[in-house]
Amino acid sequence: MADLTVKFDVLVIGGGNAALCAAISARRAGASVLVLEGAPKFYRGGNTRHTRNMRCAHDAATDILTGPYTEEEFWDDLLRLTGGQTDEELAKFMIRESKDILNWIVEQGVRWQPSLGGTLSLGRTNSFFLGGGRAMLNALYLTAEKLGVEIVYDAEVIDLDIEHGMFLSAKLKQPIDGTSEIRASALVAAAGGFEANIEWLKEYWGEAADNFLIRGTPYNRGSILKMLLDKGVQDIGDPTQCHAVAIDARAPKFDGGIITRHDSVVFGIVVNKHAQRFYDEGEDIWPKRYAIWGRLVAAQPDQIAYIIFDASVRNSFMPTLFPPIEGGSIAELATKLELDPAALEKTIAEFNAAVRSGTFDHTILDDCRTEGITPPKTHWARRIETPPYLAYPVRPGITFTYLGTRVNRQARMVMKDGKPSANMFAAGEIMAGNVLGKGYAAGIGMTIGSVFGRVAGREAAKNARN
Ligand SMILES: Cc1cc2nc3c(=O)[nH]c(=O)nc-3n(C[C@H](O)[C@H](O)[C@H](O)COP(=O)(O)OP(=O)(O)OC[C@H]3O[C@@H](n4cnc5c(N)ncnc54)[C@H](O)[C@@H]3O)c2cc1C
Repeated sequence: MADLTVKFDVLVIGGGNAALCAAISARRAGASVLVLEGAPKFYRGGNTRHTRNMRCAHDAATDILTGPYTEEEFWDDLLRLTGGQTDEELAKFMIRESKDILNWIVEQGVRWQPSLGGTLSLGRTNSFFLGGGRAMLNALYLTAEKLGVEIVYDAEVIDLDIEHGMFLSAKLKQPIDGTSEIRASALVAAAGGFEANIEWLKEYWGEAADNFLIRGTPYNRGSILKMLLDKGVQDIGDPTQCHAVAIDARAPKFDGGIITRHDSVVFGIVVNKHAQRFYDEGEDIWPKRYAIWGRLVAAQPDQIAYIIFDASVRNSFMPTLFPPIEGGSIAELATKLELDPAALEKTIAEFNAAVRSGTFDHTILDDCRTEGITPPKTHWARRIETPPYLAYPVRPGITFTYLGTRVNRQARMVMKDGKPSANMFAAGEIMAGNVLGKGYAAGIGMTIGSVFGRVAGREAAKNARN
């Protein structure tokens, strides 16, 4: 049992990847470290529990990566996907540091496995955690415990005492022991975004946010982020920007995880509740486009859409928790989806008539496309004509928000007056907006947490010693 009356060198708030990387790094740098994880032990690890892979730069193929992914290529990808809305200096720093993370994370006990196949096409760029995010976290927790990091679960931080940019103490609330004051020389905030706080989302999205599903932990309510911003830390990022994908509308409100995500868009078409298509389903290869579909569905009436495909492709993508809804005819499928049968028949007939067939290959930008319809389907267009007809209803699945605390290259928070905080650092989702102004490419969430977690821990330990 941790003695919470002593003053720690470094207090880490959060229990996911960013927090654990920070805690291990601070401890290895000689600091006494306390981790306060708001969730109970079984649910420890926030959104990190659901992850599968991380994107790191590397100059050559490895045991599990099929080829090089240079710093330059990573930067090009990031520049394109954010449309330039990124802090170039910080992003390039992260990319450079990510090279070393591939080895560093293994030294902390994490193991890799070869890439998953399906429609992910990530074998060259992303390293997959052996056993997934939970196994990855188990390794990090084990290492942290062995090193002597103190960890408390069910430990929600409900207030922060900050004066003139300097952290003094945190107020801890525990189910049995009640509230107590925790003192530390430096703070690392790694408590995630505010995606699980529907009321906060509503401030920007209005009532539509009631129809959002939250893919990850219900514990990321943004309380620490809010306290920091209210107490003088500079914010960064657009509050409406987030990582959001199309997930099955039948998924639970929170924590449905990866098994509710649909990767079948490129194999069919997507219609809204009026049975109308609304976006090019074949715009770019899926890992570069899957993260726009949450926002696209959020912009549709009642925030609902339907991925429609036919029996010829049903085994082409990874199955999810929910089976597709089936109809022997398009009209029967429409009736089951509560769509207007005539409208869906018309949309599919127009789409089929517009298809110009080519050589189908979902791993490249192939020549199967439509002609003469709006929106077009620019690749992978094939007629929907083999019964049974199938559909997944989808809603916006919010993964994590981008509004965050501004940081510098030491992962040190920057105050509203532009000065660096005396002793406060941030890592992970809570500062993701520094790198991600908008957009996403698979695996960057874990890169942000690992790189800035490691830096934050090291710098917080150094800060505490001085
Ligand atoms: C389904 C799903 C799949 C994903 N797959 C991938 C993937 O394969 N690759 C990838 O790079 N990214 C992926 N992501 C994104 C990734 O999960 C996040 O970017 C990453 O885990 C963020 O790490 P973090 O440590 O910042 O936050 P988290 O892991 O979410 O940790 C935040 C922690 O803060 C704690 N906390 C919150 N408030 C308080 C408080 N007041 N007091 C104390 N503790 C508090 C929470 O309990 C939690 O432990 C996925 C996300 C989801 C939801």
